[in-house]
Amino acid sequence: MPERTSPTNDALSASVDRTDGRPVYVIGGGPGGLAAAAALREQGVRAVVLEKSERVGASWRRHYDRLHLHTIRRWSALPGLAMPRRFGRWVSRDDMVRYLEKYADHHELEVVTGVEVSRIDRTADGTGWQLSATGGRVLTGRAVVVATGFNHTPRVPAWPGREEFGGELVHASEYRSPAPYAGRDVLVVGIGNTGAEIAVDLVEGGASRVRIAVRTTPHIVRRSTAGWPAQATAVLVRRLPVRLVDRAGRLLSRVAVPDLSAQGLPRPDTGLYSRVKEGAIPVQDVGLIDAVKSGSVVPVAAVESFDGDAVVLADGSRITPDAVIAATGYERSLEGLVGHLGVLDARGRPSVHGARTPDGAPGLHFTGFTNPISGMLREIALDARRIAGRLGRG
Ligand SMILES: Cc1cc2nc3c(=O)[nH]c(=O)nc-3n(C[C@H](O)[C@H](O)[C@H](O)COP(=O)(O)OP(=O)(O)OC[C@H]3O[C@@H](n4cnc5c(N)ncnc54)[C@H](O)[C@@H]3O)c2cc1C
Repeated sequence: MPERTSPTNDALSASVDRTDGRPVYVIGGGPGGLAAAAALREQGVRAVVLEKSERVGASWRRHYDRLHLHTIRRWSALPGLAMPRRFGRWVSRDDMVRYLEKYADHHELEVVTGVEVSRIDRTADGTGWQLSATGGRVLTGRAVVVATGFNHTPRVPAWPGREEFGGELVHASEYRSPAPYAGRDVLVVGIGNTGAEIAVDLVEGGASRVRIAVRTTPHIVRRSTAGWPAQATAVLVRRLPVRLVDRAGRLLSRVAVPDLSAQGLPRPDTGLYSRVKEGAIPVQDVGLIDAVKSGSVVPVAAVESFDGDAVVLADGSRITPDAVIAATGYERSLEGLVGHLGVLDARGRPSVHGARTPDGAPGLHFTGFTNPISGMLREIALDARRIAGRLGRG
């Protein structure tokens, strides 16, 4: 993939200590940051994207080979540039990366790579924001958009005995393809979208045995039914009362998803939308249902601890896989950046997003930290326009 050059690295030093005509700094060159910058530019607001890695779309470049978007192409595109039809309905990882590169070029975004922002503070005169960045840089902007990603830092639970485990233990963020696991006994921990897809990938790639450790049984939905994408239903129902959607979801699930209780995956007690409100997005089926039904992926109890070569499960059983892949999520890791500003909730997420700014922090915007049922990329696109609308007004 071609390297995206950053002709604006010089422009960065020019923007240091500017007191008037200060840009809006956008922290993060993923979909969230690029969308916000493009929407700001459209409003005539100068936006400078600061990206810690060497290229835009860093998170997408690291995702596993098999990955395709779970959201449809149309509702995954960012403001001001459609995704080409040839990308198909479910866009691949590589096409997503191509799109993000093209997006930055198309909108002529000012992207400065290799700059990590470590802390944001209000300027002494209270009219803007001061960013502390790599190499002792101090940048002053009239406003800031934080777009450092919901999936910022891989989280592996502090399971007792984890450090002494005799097998291989990796986080799902390190998983690329099933090739290294061919002929091996693998335990995937966590049955979110990532864990479910990796488990299927492992089966198709020739792992000798694949088990998946389940703490809470997930809602599983078909990615599309008779051509109607699950995301379209999600967009339609997102403003309806939670109990109503829960009830409809239960009915739909009984029609569309077979009962997998005998295989160890009973239907969840809590409703689908209630779970979304708690932060758990349903699992979109990309082969898990068939794999569980056929026994090629076997659900087991949650992981409790490690003991030498064994993994101890919540039901007391012990298993000895060759490798454990922890699909156990990510941390937002916003504490260092903005924790001192009192703008995070108890879960470490920004208390507001989009056009809204936290109390006492005018000009400080966040995007990409919500995980709505209707799709994060769609939300990112909406937030970008909201942020630009707000900051475009001055
Ligand atoms: C496996 C996977 C599949 C997904 N599939 C879908 C899907 O199908 N549909 C959908 O709508 N959503 C999906 N999402 C969710 C979401 O759309 C993506 O995570 C998306 O990349 C979020 O964009 P973002 O810009 O907020 O974060 P990221 O893409 O993570 O970008 C954040 C950027 O910020 C940079 N950065 C971080 N900290 C700093 C710092 N301090 N200073 C400077 N730069 C920094 C990072 O290097 C990175 O480039 C998926 C997520 C994952 C993990």
